[in-house]
Amino acid sequence: MATRRYSTAAEIALYYTRQTAYQPECKQLSVQVRKELLSKLEQVILARRKDIQEALFQDLGKAALESDYAEIFAVISELRFIQKKLGRWAAPTAVANNLLFFGAKAYIQSEPKGRTLIISPWNYPFQLPLVHLAASVAAGNTVILKPSEFSEHTNRILAEIIAEVFDPQHVAVVEGAVEETTQLLALRFDHIHFTGSPAVGKIVMQQAAKNLCGVTLELGGKSPVFIDRQTDLSKTCKNIIWAKFLNAGQTCIAPDYALVDSSLKEAFLAQLKEALITAFGTDPKLSKDYARIINGRQLTRLKTILEEELAQGTQLICGGEVLEEQRYMAPTVVIPTRLDRRLMQDELFGPILPVIFYQDLAEALQIVNEREKPLSCYIFSDNKAYVEQVIKHTSAGSTCINDAVIQIMHPNLPFAGVNNSGIGQSLGKFGFQDFSHQRAILQSSPWVRMSSFFWFPYKERTKKLV
Ligand code: NAD
Repeated sequence: MATRRYSTAAEIALYYTRQTAYQPECKQLSVQVRKELLSKLEQVILARRKDIQEALFQDLGKAALESDYAEIFAVISELRFIQKKLGRWAAPTAVANNLLFFGAKAYIQSEPKGRTLIISPWNYPFQLPLVHLAASVAAGNTVILKPSEFSEHTNRILAEIIAEVFDPQHVAVVEGAVEETTQLLALRFDHIHFTGSPAVGKIVMQQAAKNLCGVTLELGGKSPVFIDRQTDLSKTCKNIIWAKFLNAGQTCIAPDYALVDSSLKEAFLAQLKEALITAFGTDPKLSKDYARIINGRQLTRLKTILEEELAQGTQLICGGEVLEEQRYMAPTVVIPTRLDRRLMQDELFGPILPVIFYQDLAEALQIVNEREKPLSCYIFSDNKAYVEQVIKHTSAGSTCINDAVIQIMHPNLPFAGVNNSGIGQSLGKFGFQDFSHQRAILQSSPWVRMSSFFWFPYKERTKKLV
């Protein structure tokens, strides 16, 4: 059983003071030293794999295989990718000159931002803090990491791993909730990376504005799934069941709701139910693959949304069962009667899938565009024109065609939201750049000072011009 202890105000102040003092030295760490630290982190994570799986099971009931691919190896592959590419990313990038700068040297040099703060949520409590921490360390920064207060078992392992690899003057973990995060946000950081809800994202941005500190916000939203009549329905339904009910729906890029061509109604519902049984059996609470809701508060939130809907005539297609003592909510599919209640207004972030049947694509596009720009958009269609229409008439952080969620694993694509679903870009090269300042450097020509043409007095210059 993990013991719960939040960092004290004095500890937070001490970490910050020590990191502030160390930061000039930290900025000088060579690429080689940064890579060695990331390699050590990789080794320690692999050595603690079983403990991490166990902690994730206690916090979220995650299956070991799911913890492996979505948390542990997601971090390992990011660490390996960064180590492989860091030399190239950190090297200066020459840019072309125009005539005015003939003979000059112009280049962009990534430099560490300095002191960084990373704030994480509870749904991927191992992966999310560490992939962003890896990017920040790779960029040459110090890091204070504040994981969510709700993933206490994973946090304990996380703190132990970090303490084994890093000196706290370089990377330190602060445990706590709103009070501790508020204390951190009052400090002057050089960059804040926040992953969480849009509501708290706004608080983070307001606090950062006081110090004109850079922010990356990885937020959430209602990610739609478009399902066209030209699709392999059996594969699509299996795909949606995995993407939606992975981690019991507590995935930021999970499909939130489905928009389905109405001609598919009967077939879609039948295939979806069949795919659900294939995935979890007839009683999902007995499946070892199906995760649990993080805590009673989140379970109550989801249960209330569902009850409100059912009381208003929403049709329950399957699921609906809630067992409080197990923090269990069955994979649930509903057909809402209206779109103006919480079910279709709030990000669900749980195992409830509303399905809306549309008559024509314009109607589906309108539903999406009446809402905030989502984190992800999924399109299942073998019709190129349909796919193009959806992309052209919507906006989303990322889009995946004929698959879902998997776009986050592509090493060369940025991970990001747009407006209400996020600001800034993370992962791979984009994460490294986000935690770096792209410094513009111009070295004048060795033969002539380039600005000399503009030097005072202007009068003589004017004579030459006329
Ligand atoms: P949250 O916003 O409630 O909390 C996130 C972090 O902020 C936690 O560390 C928490 O302690 C802190 N926090 C909470 N309230 C605060 C306050 N008033 N002042 C200062 N700090 C505060 O989010 P959550 O419930 O942990 O996570 C769910 C949300 O995160 C969803 O919206 C989901 O979509 C989003 N999310 C986004 C991504 C992404 O990469 N885009 C990934 C995972 C989760």
